Parts: sequence; structure tokens; C-alpha cells
Amino acid sequence: MTSLHPRLRAVLDDVPSYVPGRPPQVLEGVTPYKLASNENPYPPLPSVLEVIGRAAASANRYPDMLSSELTAAIARHDGVPQEHVVAGPGSVGVLGQVLTAAAGDGDEVVHAWRSFEAYPIVVRLSGARSVPVPLLPDGRHDLPAMAAAVTERTRLVLVCSPNNPTGPTVTAAEMDDFLTAVPADVLVVLDEAYREFVRPAADAPDAVALHLAHPNLVVLRTFSKAYGLAGLRVGYGLAHPAVADALRKTAIPFGVSTLAQAAAVASLDAEEELLERVGAIVTERERVVAALAAQGWEVPATEANFVWMPVGERAGELAEACGAVGLSVRAFAGDGVRVSIGEPEADDRFLEVAAAFPRG
Ligand SMILES: *Cc1c(COP(=O)(O)O)cnc(C)c1O
Repeated sequence: MTSLHPRLRAVLDDVPSYVPGRPPQVLEGVTPYKLASNENPYPPLPSVLEVIGRAAASANRYPDMLSSELTAAIARHDGVPQEHVVAGPGSVGVLGQVLTAAAGDGDEVVHAWRSFEAYPIVVRLSGARSVPVPLLPDGRHDLPAMAAAVTERTRLVLVCSPNNPTGPTVTAAEMDDFLTAVPADVLVVLDEAYREFVRPAADAPDAVALHLAHPNLVVLRTFSKAYGLAGLRVGYGLAHPAVADALRKTAIPFGVSTLAQAAAVASLDAEEELLERVGAIVTERERVVAALAAQGWEVPATEANFVWMPVGERAGELAEACGAVGLSVRAFAGDGVRVSIGEPEADDRFLEVAAAFPRG
């Protein structure tokens, strides 16, 4: 018997599936920890929870489609005109809006590799083709090579700083040269999902100043990581008015829930308290990095809330060793393992695994 299948877009055949970080294995007598998704180990602040609870009472109503209160708060916070701010369902949601607005069949999108695994997915879904440019051996973007990869067909270049999953930032000087080299009609996205964890890298770019100076630069930021709202899905883009209008057109209507909008506004209000937690995570990161160095590991200089273990073919093996002690981490086959900074007890347990793991 023949069966007719509904016809779907051919590009889906080469869209990789996003692999979410898995929950940790549950082992008898062991507290499990998830270090696989770069989540904030701290739950929302009581003040933020209270606002979410209040917002839940109006869940029968659609949200404010333009997230007006939130975009006003972000504009004040970042020092940009409100019309430059586009909120979306996570910054990955905004990235999807950028792709829909800027790229399609036959176009090219340049990005570093290895970088954020969502990039090849959203690029291919748009119909455009990914042009991956290898990272430098120290896990940093090779921005001159990325500028050189721009052709007549390039519509977009994605720069991830700090880079997920390796950790380093691009420098201000590199970014200046890059923006000078890339034609002004090619959109550049600077994805700053981990920006709050960047310290003390004094040479990191000032994304807002760059954005104001370069109409082709879109900055992506999120409430998922430092602000600890990954489960509510809210992030934003900063874009000049013509691009921002396009991003509003390509948005899914009412994509940012009332709860997410309220929680994000409350989190900006509680920024000082939240940044203290970020400070504690950064201190913990420095402790983990120093301990790994003392064990003889050479890891890239991370400015984010994770460390990259460049173990190549043994990625699966290291992830399994972590799993065996109740830790879930994120393995990228043949390349390495990304380990989020979490609770000190979780990090200690990871350090024990790293110490015992045979070096190749
Ligand atoms: C986590 C992350 C994001 C943010 O995702 P949301 O959709 O805002 O949760 C964006 N870019 C990178 C590189 C990330 O790692």
C-alpha cells in the first residue's frame, strides 16, 4: 500500500535538531546537579516571584504585544532610544526574527564554529546557508577570517561573545576592525547572552556604543542566564529603527507572555541584588578554572558561566564519567564538553571527575 506524505520544505532534511541539556541521572543517596544548560543555579528572587504571581492573575488576557513597559525599562537601562528595543521569546526567538527578516534561499550567513548550536538550525530554517568559520586554537573567534568569508551573498554575520561553548570574548579592537571591514549593508549580530559574567576583561567591546555607531549592528541580550529567567523565555534585540521595525514584523504575535514581561521588569529593578549573585558565580568560575589549571588542564579563558573541556574524541567518555556521579554536562561529540558553573558542591564533584580523568 502506498501512502502519501504531506509535503514539507526540503530544507528540513538538513536542519539539525537542537539537543537540550539533559536532567542529571538520579543515583541513590547522591544529590543530582544539572550543569548542562548554562542555567543560573539561583531561583528567582522573592520580589520577582511576587510580581510573577500577581501577573498570573491576569492570564486570561493577552499580553501587551509590544512589551511597552519592558522595552521602556530596557531602553533606560541600556541607554538607547526605546524604538531600538525589540523584546522576544528569548534571544533565540529574536534571532529567529532576525533571520526571517534578513536571510532566505540562496543567501549566506557567516558564523564561528564551534559556536552556539542554535545558529546552524535557525540559519538553515530560513533557507539560507551557514558559512562556518573555525575558531582559533584558543577558542576565540577569528574575526579577520570571518570578515574575509563575507561575499555578495552574505546577509548576516553572527558573533557570539562570550562564545558558547568555549567562553572567550572578542576584543573591542577586533570588533572595530571587523565592523570596518564588513560592508555596511550586511547585518552583524553580536550575541551577548553571557555579557553580565564578563569581568575583568576590560578589553571587551561596549556593544551599546558600537550599536549606536553602526546601524548594521544588532545586539542580542537575554534574561535567561544572569537574570535567571530561562523558564519564562524573554530576551531582546537592540536594532536601529528600520531593522527594529522589520523584527517587529517577523515576530510571532504576543510572543512574550505577561509573566515574562513582568518578571523581566522586576529583574531590572532588582538588578543590584541579581548582579551580586552573578559576582558569586564569577568567583566560583575563577575557583574552578584555577583548580583545573592546577590539575594540568588547559582550558580557554572563559568569561561566561561555563568552562570548556577540549577533550576531542573523548567528549562522550568525560560526559559519562560526570553522569556516573550524578552530574549532567553537555558533550559535543568529537570536540569537547561544556560544563556550567553551578552550586559549589556540584563544581567540586566535577573537579573530582576532572582530576581522575586520564589525560590524552
Ligand atoms: C543561552 C543563549 C542564548 C539565550 O537564549 P534565550 O533564548 O534567551 O534563552 C542566546 N545565545 C547564546 C549563545 C546562548 O548560549
